Amino acid sequence: MAESTFMGVPRSKIPWAPSIDYEKCDFCMECDEFCPHRVFERRDGDVKLVVANPENCVVFCRACAKTCGPDALSFPDKPATVALIKRLRAAETALQAGPDTVDKKEGEE
Ligand code: SF4
Ligand code: SF4
Repeated sequence: MAESTFMGVPRSKIPWAPSIDYEKCDFCMECDEFCPHRVFERRDGDVKLVVANPENCVVFCRACAKTCGPDALSFPDKPATVALIKRLRAAETALQAGPDTVDKKEGEE
């Protein structure tokens, strides 16, 4: 199966997913019931929640955080993630262009 991409960058290289603060989480499971992308998984007979599939999270979505009363969900910094995606995309573009486009140093074959 082809690897999923976001803005031309492999999704696996973009660290966007919720983090659960277990000091605040009361395991109400509202976020899991809300999200259709199977990002969360219940463990230990439904008493614990984990972020089992972070790559399923839609990049820049934060919708489930609105369902969380105790404010236990957080996400990476958006501007920093945008900057990272731009850097990765530039690297991907250079890679796809191939070695012929890379300037050779004087004296190199
Ligand atoms: S941010 Fe969106 S896609 Fe990601 S886990 Fe929450 S609801 Fe699901
Ligand atoms: S909605 Fe918040 S408190 Fe409820 S299970 Fe999810 S992270 Fe925990």
